[in-house]
Amino acid sequence: MSDIASNIRLLKQQIPQSVKLVAVSKTRPANDILEAYNTGLKYFGENRVQELLSKKDLLPPDIEWHLIGHLQTNKVKYVVTFISMIQSVDTFRLLKTINSEAHKIGRIVDCLLQIHIAEEETKFGFNMAEIDEMVRSVEFSELKYIRICGVMGMATFTDDSLQVQKEFRYLADCFNDLKRNYFKDSEFFREISMGMSGDYMTAIREGTTMIRIGSLIFGERSKQNKPA
Ligand SMILES: *Cc1c(COP(=O)(O)O)cnc(C)c1O
Repeated sequence: MSDIASNIRLLKQQIPQSVKLVAVSKTRPANDILEAYNTGLKYFGENRVQELLSKKDLLPPDIEWHLIGHLQTNKVKYVVTFISMIQSVDTFRLLKTINSEAHKIGRIVDCLLQIHIAEEETKFGFNMAEIDEMVRSVEFSELKYIRICGVMGMATFTDDSLQVQKEFRYLADCFNDLKRNYFKDSEFFREISMGMSGDYMTAIREGTTMIRIGSLIFGERSKQNKPA
């Protein structure tokens, strides 16, 4: 068995069947992705539009691609035709752009609201006050070509597992509040995307429904080999 296949097997032994595994394939060549796909994985996450576009045509068409990195509004049109889920919706403006591009092609696009839960300034995302304001607006209620499927967050990059646990618990609380206040009747609003290679066990304890795993599947990413 290849390293990738055995990494996936080990990982699957540790996660409940109800938790979706998104293989984060950024910086990895198509061959590695195919190897992971051949073990039965179907969700793959990329963070850059250009890289995603260049790889997806080399790979099986039934892969469900998730966009997990910051998306510029001018690039929405390139992914909206095929993307399975945009996990990194971090502004109302971006959501409106996704809606209007999706409208043009008559497709409904699944989205997660990325919430800022980390201490670091650099991570993108809404705060809850912004989401409340957005979701209550008339404009939001008129968006017919997007479907809000839940929330996504990235914890602080730290060895302090209590800190990470606190942040994941906060994200789960945000999900529950949003569900109760605005999405009670939505069968689609059900995902909490949290947990990466270093903190997925904590995320599972805190109620994740979707973990995003890169290095534990494909090995460490080398910064030098980053494609342009
Ligand atoms: C890179 C990335 C991951 C995966 O990181 P690993 O530590 O390699 O598992 C998950 N989520 C997002 C948003 C990422 O950018």
